[in-house]
Amino acid sequence: MKRVGFIGWRGMVGSVLMDRLSQENDFNFMESYFFSTSQAGTAAPKVKNGSPKLLSAMDIKELSSMDILVSCQGGEYTTEMFPALRNSGWKGIWIDAASTLRLKDDAIIVLDPVNRTFIQESIDKGVKNFVGGNCTVSLLLIALDGLFKENLVEWVSSMTYQAASGAGAKNMIELLDQMRSVGQAFNSNPSSEALELERQMTNLMNGESFPKANFGHPLALNVLPYIDSELPSGQSKEEWKAQVEANKILQTKTVIPIDGTCVRVGALRCHSQGLTIKLKKSASLSSVEEIISNANPWVKLVPNNKPDTLKELTPAAVSGKLHVPIGRVRQMTLGENFYNAFTLGDQLLWGAAEPLRCLLRQVLN
Ligand code: NAP
Repeated sequence: MKRVGFIGWRGMVGSVLMDRLSQENDFNFMESYFFSTSQAGTAAPKVKNGSPKLLSAMDIKELSSMDILVSCQGGEYTTEMFPALRNSGWKGIWIDAASTLRLKDDAIIVLDPVNRTFIQESIDKGVKNFVGGNCTVSLLLIALDGLFKENLVEWVSSMTYQAASGAGAKNMIELLDQMRSVGQAFNSNPSSEALELERQMTNLMNGESFPKANFGHPLALNVLPYIDSELPSGQSKEEWKAQVEANKILQTKTVIPIDGTCVRVGALRCHSQGLTIKLKKSASLSSVEEIISNANPWVKLVPNNKPDTLKELTPAAVSGKLHVPIGRVRQMTLGENFYNAFTLGDQLLWGAAEPLRCLLRQVLN
């Protein structure tokens, strides 16, 4: 059996990956070793064929003894440890959730429902570096898989509504802390007038004592229209990723433009996106719906009516689920080739952990 090392297994992505590997009995097919940057020597999670103690994620010798390493630790770790590992002569397979290596020529961005065949060809050719895509990009590509496969998309504008957990465990907990502050302040004034309450809450969230060490700003009762770092183009790095990563995954010969504004909202889990899609040619609503819904087993078309939309097309309904719903599909008044849609998905499942899990099984097979 192959020796597989897991780094970053207790973070948001790592924990979801552990759950999915257990649910699918994947641990039966490997010897598992768990690494930590902060807790080496303590007990490892109990899994079939798992080693009992946590190993140090900074120990090149221990890491090099693995056939496969799966890292959900984050970009800083990859930047520091991946070159050191390769320079030490390690020739194993590196599977990563972080963005660091995504655009390298020798790395494949993995998204099983969209590029499984290409992944298999790459494994067969001896490619060693595989990286999960940006969560929002992966979910967009699963939702619009059919339209891309039919070569119907001229461009897409995506306005995102991204959940707090997309920024990691500490940020998600901070959002809940902010909500607790709001709840406590509100409870002490239950009979106030609505406008007076609004003033109190606005003062509270803008005050010094509001917990915002991680986001730097209030997210509860607020939206944050900037995710990741600034780029000279005026885009945020999160916005820039959409076009470059999507086109790499789709292996397009001519770039399909994808751009929009990425916004952090107070959802806990599940990234949502409002889409404007310009098609290359006119297509009826029924054919667009059919192409979208038949593309892969995970995309689910939600009829464009109010009850189905509010029941099925929300983070509350989709958190923890593997399907990727898309709804609000309609021709826009902008012109007959313009379609509107709204899609969302669990960014910790198909947006992060699930492509890594599928790849790991593909490699082990
Ligand atoms: P995370 O939750 O911040 O976890 C990363 C590491 O932080 C953990 O492995 C753990 O390392 C440490 N840590 C510190 N305090 C923790 C706490 N209270 N709970 C859990 N872990 C804690 O990061 P992540 O969101 O999983 O992201 C990992 C990588 O995946 C990043 O590169 C990210 O960009 C990428 N990614 C994330 C998402 C997403 O939706 N979150 C989606 C796609 C890709 P030690 O055990 O070594 O201390």
